[in-house]
Amino acid sequence: MYFKTIDFSKFSSIKVGVPIEVLMLERGDEIPQDRLIIGHANNLLVSLNPPPLMMLSKDFSFMELEDEVLTVGCATPTGKLLSFAKKNDLVGFEFISKLPGSIGGMVAMNAGVKSYEIFNILDAIKIDGVWVEKEKIEHGYRFAKLHGVATEVRFNIKRGFSKVLLEELVTLRSNQPKTASAGSAFKNPEGDYAGRLIEEVGLKGVRRGAMQWSEVHANFLVNHGEGTFEDAKYLIDLVKKRVLDKFGVELIEEVQIV
Ligand SMILES: Cc1cc2nc3c(=O)[nH]c(=O)nc-3n(C[C@H](O)[C@H](O)[C@H](O)COP(=O)(O)OP(=O)(O)OC[C@H]3O[C@@H](n4cnc5c(N)ncnc54)[C@H](O)[C@@H]3O)c2cc1C
Repeated sequence: MYFKTIDFSKFSSIKVGVPIEVLMLERGDEIPQDRLIIGHANNLLVSLNPPPLMMLSKDFSFMELEDEVLTVGCATPTGKLLSFAKKNDLVGFEFISKLPGSIGGMVAMNAGVKSYEIFNILDAIKIDGVWVEKEKIEHGYRFAKLHGVATEVRFNIKRGFSKVLLEELVTLRSNQPKTASAGSAFKNPEGDYAGRLIEEVGLKGVRRGAMQWSEVHANFLVNHGEGTFEDAKYLIDLVKKRVLDKFGVELIEEVQIV
């Protein structure tokens, strides 16, 4: 293991944060229990004082296909897995397109689009060095209780990658803002959309500093440049308060604030 200084104002997809020393884990290292594991920071809002952080090094970026079982290291970028699935004609991976991050981040968030989620297609996850079957892992809409560091994921694969579905999903997401963000800021409450509620309380397009509730898609908190954690947090708290006051709905952040 070794330390690396990561500037979150450059590394994170929302471009907010400061340079921080992050512990990089290598193959064979004992996994520390007193640090928070992060992936590729596409769903993170990093404060000025985060807990000690760690990340998987490139040692954990690999894919192995053997006897119809695909094993993927958790530092593998999602784009690489999508290309691999396309090339090897593997069905079920189409939704990963335009879903930035690492495989570790994907399984921890149970990331997905519409009814397609990573837990639908995976078989088991190696957590803190032990393979755990997915049925034994509590998971649901945008969460999975891993209770440790995921280093590898196993998929039982079937052939038949669908280019039609891929195109459909790409089109579906063409309305997303192009400005820096961490994807959806809030989870959709049951039977409703966080974006609709943000619009209803009049906060779509509202800006503080360089941070803004997107005019394109209200549930995206975007950064126009030098956005700060403080401004981001202010806008998040403002939405939560207004939506609670007006609708009695407690919005839950999808973006992980650390
Ligand atoms: C433009 C844009 C669009 C997006 N659209 C979608 C979408 O449609 N659907 C969707 O679900 N998400 C979406 N996201 C969010 C993001 O793509 C996913 O949440 C992704 O899975 C995050 O991966 P990451 O590696 O960046 O994880 P990070 O953001 O670094 O971490 C996310 C969480 O995972 C945990 N974690 C990371 N790695 C591990 C590990 N190895 N073991 C245990 N826990 C770990 C972290 O502690 C943290 O809680 C979008 C993001 C952006 C920027």
